Amino acid sequence: MSDVDFLKVTGNSMKGKVNIFWFRRDLRFDDNIALYHALSSELPVLPLFIFDSGILDKLTNRGDARVSFIYNEIEKLKKTLEKDGRSLCVLYAKPLDAFLRITKEFDVEAVFANKDYEPYAIQRDTEVAEFLKTKNIQFRAFKDHVIFEENEVLKDNCEPYTVFTPYSRKWKKQLAQTEIAPFSSEKLWGNFLKIKPFPFLHLEDFGFVHSSLNFPSSEVSDVIIREYATKRDLPAVEGTSKLGLHLRFGTVSIRKVTLKARSLSDVFLNELIWRNFFIDILWHFPYVVNTSFKPKYNRIEWRNNAMEFEKWCRGNTGYPMVDAGMRELNETGFMHNRVRMLTASFLTKHLLIDWRWGEAYFAEKLLDYELASNNGNWQWAAGSGCDAAPYFRVFNPEIQQKKFDPKGEYIFKWIPEHGTLNYPAPLVEHKFARERALAAYKKALD
Ligand code: FAD
Repeated sequence: MSDVDFLKVTGNSMKGKVNIFWFRRDLRFDDNIALYHALSSELPVLPLFIFDSGILDKLTNRGDARVSFIYNEIEKLKKTLEKDGRSLCVLYAKPLDAFLRITKEFDVEAVFANKDYEPYAIQRDTEVAEFLKTKNIQFRAFKDHVIFEENEVLKDNCEPYTVFTPYSRKWKKQLAQTEIAPFSSEKLWGNFLKIKPFPFLHLEDFGFVHSSLNFPSSEVSDVIIREYATKRDLPAVEGTSKLGLHLRFGTVSIRKVTLKARSLSDVFLNELIWRNFFIDILWHFPYVVNTSFKPKYNRIEWRNNAMEFEKWCRGNTGYPMVDAGMRELNETGFMHNRVRMLTASFLTKHLLIDWRWGEAYFAEKLLDYELASNNGNWQWAAGSGCDAAPYFRVFNPEIQQKKFDPKGEYIFKWIPEHGTLNYPAPLVEHKFARERALAAYKKALD
């Protein structure tokens, strides 16, 4: 880390109160609720981003594409502000330490941020809010990452839903009764604090390098959404939105995507509801991070064969559809949803490897990695989650391939050696693996 003080701006006099807008999972100016409220306040707004050293120091992959992506987005925001005599303060620190320093440098009235619903983020925000309170600074948090928060879609008896279909029905009913107006900040731009540029923090300053991966666009065409219902299950076709990464980091607004979905495709809207459902599940049942949603499933005796896990990770199981998916993931940071379901089922059922191993591998590789969705879907595939696939449903990789990649286009794209002697024989025979899985699950659940 270089010894530039990234907080100091030479040539500015820091007189007068400011409000701070803290960017986190909402890396955009457009339709950003907390930013809108900050800019509508009486005081000039100092925007801030903190690279959380507590999280980043633990990452062993110094070329992690997600860090690169965030960095690029932050750079764009900073440059845009600097065209107009404003700037973005970018720090690399533990959030609490960052606020300790910022409050020494600036006279802060309030900190505005959008809520983040993951357990770590809830704890972080509680600590930051408590610290700010000791300085008489308000911490103002807004709903922006979801359409409905944890206590907005509940059963009639006020309990959280644990089954998707009734949850989605209630969600849609509430959407019909809710006005989703965009929060445009354009006219409020003048309320950003006028300040000379903060020094720029380089990725290398905190030990990371740029990734060479291509990131999907945050624009999705109406055609993709309109044809989603017929194309979304075909991994060889560009039939899904690829918005996962952008919804994760807030480079698109969930409200805008939802409005589009509502007018163009009910099937697509349903997928956005799954996202909201799993965010709510994680909020109400945070124990799912480490253990099965259904406790009985903690009794499964996993085989956890490390060599077989390695073959699964590398895409060398001898099952082409599984291997194509894993290779797509390793090379691009993306895997098609249909194939995510298959690879997860294969790991947990065919190989009887703990879903947490697979979950951790996806968490390391997926550009769109999101704790709630990853955990929810892994537990769905393993059968241990809320509203999960029944445990006796074991996907047959060959049938999946015939149904969803009948011409083998997806397979040949990722496994050029398919059909040659260089491609391995199946790691385990399907019928045998299926029966072994059923026996292990039955033993745990009886
Ligand atoms: P589209 O099909 O275009 O869907 C639009 C958006 O809807 C997605 O971007 C996502 O935000 C949401 N969505 C779609 N399907 C689901 C779903 N099943 N659950 C929750 N939200 C959904 N999604 C993640 O965002 N992060 C993850 O870490 C993640 N891990 C997964 C792990 C497994 C084992 C499985 C089976 C699925 C996982 N998914 C995850 C869900 C889904 O596969 C991805 O959201 C989707 O493939 C992303 O591609 P897309 O943006 O083109 O999605």
